[in-house]
Amino acid sequence: MSLYDYYEKIYALEAQGKKIIRLTAADPDWRPSSVALDALVNSIKAGKDKYASALGIPVLRKKIAAMHGCSEENVIVFPGSKMAVFATLFVKCKSGDNVVTFAPYWGAYSLMCKKLGLEFKQVDLTAKSNFEINWSEVEKAIDFKTKVFILNSPCNPTGIAFREEDEYKLIQLCKSKGVLVLCDDAYRDLSFDERKDRKLEEGIVIAQTWSKTFGMTGWRLGYVVSDEATVREFAFFNQLTISNVPVFLQEAALAALEEKEEVSKIARGVCKERLVIASEVLKGVLEFAVPNSSFYVYGKLPGKMNGTDFAYKLLEEGVAIVPGEEFGGEKFKNYVRISLCFGKEPLRNALEVVARLVRELS
Ligand code: PLP
Repeated sequence: MSLYDYYEKIYALEAQGKKIIRLTAADPDWRPSSVALDALVNSIKAGKDKYASALGIPVLRKKIAAMHGCSEENVIVFPGSKMAVFATLFVKCKSGDNVVTFAPYWGAYSLMCKKLGLEFKQVDLTAKSNFEINWSEVEKAIDFKTKVFILNSPCNPTGIAFREEDEYKLIQLCKSKGVLVLCDDAYRDLSFDERKDRKLEEGIVIAQTWSKTFGMTGWRLGYVVSDEATVREFAFFNQLTISNVPVFLQEAALAALEEKEEVSKIARGVCKERLVIASEVLKGVLEFAVPNSSFYVYGKLPGKMNGTDFAYKLLEEGVAIVPGEEFGGEKFKNYVRISLCFGKEPLRNALEVVARLVRELS
């Protein structure tokens, strides 16, 4: 059964009037700031709703360039970072090439590769070893057909940010083999060690988004920073598809960036509080590495308990989570992902239902 069947089951139960607490979302519950909302309204009232540059508005590109230590020519605005990931694979790979990433991983990567005729290779990491990088497996996975390595740190679904020195080592290793590193930095501002914006260097593509930190998932706003030639390829991609990201959204995005430090700090605070609750309730229930960022817990159920079966049973108790297999296939069939996109009290109550059911079934 697919994840979509599972989601259909949630809808069906809700249609019958059952209340389901969804710990499934990759969608933070915090709202965009009033500064971003006002900028959006003012911009659209000022008539900034016409076709525009496929690259983005200069003032926003300049701001982003300053953050990443590069020039405006290295920046392009995208409709969300998912599109940026897709565009990178589309532009940089051809059928038969392969793409490598760590597992567990965000499921969209493997689905995109499949659709594009690319081989998808995963380097498995485990909760038992704190999702630490297995370097010999990385070396083994990269071959002459590898075009892109996707580095997602902090990671969806584990909530773990790799050490910066490990990220550096990985980028150097890929560079030495002529492999482009796609840094999917969607959760970077939610890492508790308060990482600075990644600086642009040769051989990388940085994909970033307003979705998570700013709680602007539905706005479809993201950007890419890379070498000038790659940015030009992406501009052509936009010209052929969406034409441009709406200017009124970009002006709101710029206003949001002005508050980035403050907004990130508040969001990290919320995430930390929720992770404390999750760690208290789930300790000894799931095997998981305590996240150092964002709002996910990805853990292994005891014994041979299956994540999909468990998720269905939990649904009958009114709580939805995501089966772990979605983030790495068969090897992760005993895992589940719990998203902490909920206020403190309902979150604690829902997690206690998870803990009770695990104990009952153990
Ligand atoms: N990257 C990761 C790892 C994600 O988890 C998500 C969304 O869940 C995205 C990228 C896409 O974000 P967006 O397209 O909203 O910018």
